Amino acid sequence: MPASNVLNPLLEKQALQQLGDLDAIPAPIASLLRVVSATYDRFQRDRQLLERAMDLSSDELLAVNARLREERDHQAEMLVDLQEEIARREVAETALRNSKQLLTQLLEAVPVGVLVVDRSGSTYYVNRMAKTICGMTREEFTLDLLTEKFKLFVRDTRAHYPTDQLPVVRALIGESSMIDDLDLVQDGQVIPLQSWAAPVYSSDGTIEYAISAFADISGRLAVEEALRRAKDDADAAARAKSEFLANMSHEIRTPMNGVIGMTSLLLDTALTYEQQDFVNVIRSSGESLLTIINDILDFSKIEARKLVLERHPFDLRQCLEDALDLLVPAASAKGLELLLHVEHDVPQIIVSDVTRVRQVIVNLLSNAIKFTPAGEVSVHVTAEHLPRDLFKIVIQVRDTGIGIPADRMNLLFESFSQVDASITRKYGGTGLGLAISHQLSELLGGGLTVTSAPGVGSTFACTLVAPAGEAEKRPDTGELAGKRVLIVDDNVTNLRILALQTSAWGMRPETASSGEEALTRLAGEPFDLALFDMQMPGMDGLALARAVGSRDGLADMPIVLLSSIGQNLTHDRSIIHAWLSKPVKSEYLRRTIAEACRVPLSTPRLPSESPPPAALASRAGTRILLAEDNAINQKVATKMLENMGHRVDVVANGLEVLDALDRIVYDIVLMDMMMPEMDGLTATRQVRARSSR
Ligand code: ADP
Repeated sequence: MPASNVLNPLLEKQALQQLGDLDAIPAPIASLLRVVSATYDRFQRDRQLLERAMDLSSDELLAVNARLREERDHQAEMLVDLQEEIARREVAETALRNSKQLLTQLLEAVPVGVLVVDRSGSTYYVNRMAKTICGMTREEFTLDLLTEKFKLFVRDTRAHYPTDQLPVVRALIGESSMIDDLDLVQDGQVIPLQSWAAPVYSSDGTIEYAISAFADISGRLAVEEALRRAKDDADAAARAKSEFLANMSHEIRTPMNGVIGMTSLLLDTALTYEQQDFVNVIRSSGESLLTIINDILDFSKIEARKLVLERHPFDLRQCLEDALDLLVPAASAKGLELLLHVEHDVPQIIVSDVTRVRQVIVNLLSNAIKFTPAGEVSVHVTAEHLPRDLFKIVIQVRDTGIGIPADRMNLLFESFSQVDASITRKYGGTGLGLAISHQLSELLGGGLTVTSAPGVGSTFACTLVAPAGEAEKRPDTGELAGKRVLIVDDNVTNLRILALQTSAWGMRPETASSGEEALTRLAGEPFDLALFDMQMPGMDGLALARAVGSRDGLADMPIVLLSSIGQNLTHDRSIIHAWLSKPVKSEYLRRTIAEACRVPLSTPRLPSESPPPAALASRAGTRILLAEDNAINQKVATKMLENMGHRVDVVANGLEVLDALDRIVYDIVLMDMMMPEMDGLTATRQVRARSSR
């Protein structure tokens, strides 16, 4: 056996030194060597084991030591924690005591009675106010006492309040409730109470208490009663005021209508010029006074919120043309241009209150004319499409008048205010017109605004919001397409309006601002038609027409003259095709142009403008009584009837019709149906009954 493979290394080293080559040693020695080697190995293992065992026990000792130290530290910490916890509890208990005290103080201080009962219905807490209201000590305060000793009634009845309806009782079955119809009767004294209660739950969700608060509400009830009386008084006063106004309106208007009616009779008698003049002054003063009375009545109706707007489809342009018609005499008396321009995208028919729209516009126009010494007054209408088929329509009334100082603008829409007293003396007026217009515009869904520059002019813009009505078929504007028209006017605004209007019909307009410029234009490319304004500085419309007529090649061109009303409308057909009075109504202008250019129109004819048709003229001079409560409708109808040559007296209700018929014999009565005081039907019945007697 090779001894080197099995011997312990230390023994092997020593054996080599002592014995030399180990492979050569005899077997008994080799066997001995192996026994010794095994002993060496065991000894070495034992020593290693001993060493390891000694190491191990010192580690353990260290570990035990460390654990003991940790334990000691931990116990010290726990002791500190415990001390801190005890301190904390003491603080918390003090805070709890304080907050309980505060809560009690608060409950004692509240000005309502507070009662807390436990789930068995026994009183747990009752505050000072509760004892005061019920006149009881804490000891006397039990729920049973509350319902038995005290009489609890349903307010203003002799019925006992049902116990199961009392909030504190309902709270014990989990309902929060409030009543204020409880009367507590104690020693013959009635204390009206308001009472509220709610359940208080414990942490496991069961009802532990019911808390109830109650207050003596005699003060509140007294105030409510006083308010109710004051309101009744105010309502009665308002009713009395409305009745007074209605009576007054009748009382004032009746004699006024008498005065006006009689003046028209007087005018039929033989009078000197001077007397005629006096009578005319009486009549016009009477009419102004009626206008003022109507203004005041309208205003009080709006103030009392009694004004109800109508909603009917109407032709907006027609409404504005009617308004302008009324003011043409006033404007032409001052030599003012009166212009209307409706943008083509404005709906033809809108659904709103035609009378009120016209009233606002007439008022703005008459102010504009009143405060404009020279220049023009124009109405410009635009529309904006809003959602849900509504249109915001803006009607601007612009003048070139005296304007309004910036610091007076905020007063404008106040009732009874005028810009300054000297202006009022010069121009007159009640200061109600703009206040009424402002409120009406708001009722119409919009508003009224103003911009102005002193010495330059003012623009009042009335906005209204309305749905578009079912439009009638718009006239087919294609028929005049391509026609060349020369428009001559010194007024720039009017030139613009006429140019826009004719181009909307597909025509090709050219403009000139004087007769001379027009003649130069006419020397060029030929025109199908010419529109001349009559009043122009230098060469007027008629002179221009004559000059044109005398030129070679121009004699056949039709000429339409535009002129302010009141001018002699007779004309020489050989020079002028037609006269139209300004402001020109769009449809009349279209028809006149079509006629002049010999273009047949598919839409039916409108009633002819002037002179009045023979049939109506033959009946001119009819004495008409017009019964209509709205001032603007009165004006419109009167104007139309007077234009037909009739004599018109106006009254505002059925009663006034009866009064007027007692005094004057009329050929015709035109009666509005809906009028205050006595409506048209009742009045007609009474008139018929009287005439059959
Ligand atoms: P009135 O009936 O007295 O005219 P309004 O309410 O219509 O009352 O007008 C109030 C005042 O506003 C007028 O007195 C005038 O001073 C001023 N005013 C109204 N419109 C105009 C205008 N277009 N230009 C200048 N001032 C105006």
